[in-house]
Amino acid sequence: MVTVEELFAIDALLSGEEREIRDTVAAFAAQRLRPHIADWFEAGTFPAREIAPELGKLGLLGMHLEGYGCAGMSATAYGLACQELEAVDSGVRSMVSVQGSLAMTAIHKFGSEEQKQRWLPEMAAGSALGCFGLTEPDFGSNPGGMRTRAKRDGDDWVLNGSKMWITNGSVADVAVVWAYAEDGDAKPVVRGFLVPAGTPGFTAREMHRKLSLRASITAELDFDDVRLPADAVLPESGGLSSPLACLSEARFGIIFGALGAARDCLSSTIDYARSREVFDKPLAAYQLTQGKLADMALELGKGQLLAVHLGRLKDRGEISAEQISAGKLNSTREAIAIARECRTILGANGITLDYPVLRHANNLESVLTYEGTAEVHQLVLGKALTDANAFR
Ligand SMILES: Cc1cc2nc3c(=O)[nH]c(=O)nc-3n(C[C@H](O)[C@H](O)[C@H](O)COP(=O)(O)OP(=O)(O)OC[C@H]3O[C@@H](n4cnc5c(N)ncnc54)[C@H](O)[C@@H]3O)c2cc1C
Repeated sequence: MVTVEELFAIDALLSGEEREIRDTVAAFAAQRLRPHIADWFEAGTFPAREIAPELGKLGLLGMHLEGYGCAGMSATAYGLACQELEAVDSGVRSMVSVQGSLAMTAIHKFGSEEQKQRWLPEMAAGSALGCFGLTEPDFGSNPGGMRTRAKRDGDDWVLNGSKMWITNGSVADVAVVWAYAEDGDAKPVVRGFLVPAGTPGFTAREMHRKLSLRASITAELDFDDVRLPADAVLPESGGLSSPLACLSEARFGIIFGALGAARDCLSSTIDYARSREVFDKPLAAYQLTQGKLADMALELGKGQLLAVHLGRLKDRGEISAEQISAGKLNSTREAIAIARECRTILGANGITLDYPVLRHANNLESVLTYEGTAEVHQLVLGKALTDANAFR
């Protein structure tokens, strides 16, 4: 028997250090996360405060960033870590993505030296949590339409508005909030603001009744005349390109991550099909089953080859936004197709939490939607291929 990684000789493309990082994260995930994940998912919770310091100790928070206590690893190594975390659950990888690729990246890219010193070392260690508030109830795919405003008042800023679907929102120590900054007569421009938890007028409410990413905390944020000091603004941020630059980092992690979920579905399904007997022989020995398994292995292997290729481009500083879109679209679309196909092989058992496949499939509904929906990435690629903007 070979694994998909062996079939496609993926290890041959990785350095010894990259394989070691991947195996360390896999061992941590197997021992610390996997035994609890079905219970967390069922309960609709994730012990972010408890797990974050352990992830921090492994260097997984802001892993690709340099300095300020961050591990400064390669993009490919970061991707491989995401793959191992998401093989357990997309909720775990989401927590790490939001902390490192969104909140910490925003501070690292656009913050002042004081802001970096204040937040990044604690966030890298997992003793402080961050969230990233861009989406609003009426503006997801089109964040430029956001209504949240920060108005200059003397030296201060006064923030009003709301954000929705914010991962880690109700457990975060600091929210990176994107708002149109209105400063005198100047044209309003999107800028990032650091809003510490407990600031008067700022409330975060956990959202419930989710059928996807249940092992992840999602919140609604409200800002009602929140008075912030002058130094709350991320000084280097300016324009929608600032939050979008952070989203590119998180999308990159998903290219690898979603394939981790798919791999977990496929491997658990192969185990199941080898032991489950139907009509007096193992399910795995039927041609229809093998056809499904072979097709899924092909898509997973091709996705992994693309992910490593894109990782190498990113490590050389050569990756484009369109290439990240291509990877995010491919990985999420194929991963959800694999998860659903695996569920068919598991029959009725596939609908329970005793097996990971429907949990992954449900999670992947969110992964397909956040960080740019599949359709948004099709439009990005369509524009690149035709030079015609079809967003509006
Ligand atoms: C579990 C979860 C966690 C999240 N975490 C965060 C977070 O931490 N921070 C944050 O800021 N956001 C977060 N989000 C929000 C996420 O980024 C948005 O849901 C996403 O951007 C899509 O926005 P929307 O849900 O408003 O859908 P809409 O924008 O309303 O889209 C609805 C449908 O319309 C399609 N569509 C949109 N525009 C076009 C077009 N031009 N042409 C054709 N079709 C189009 C979309 O593809 C989609 O199919 C999270 C979401 C989820 C589900």
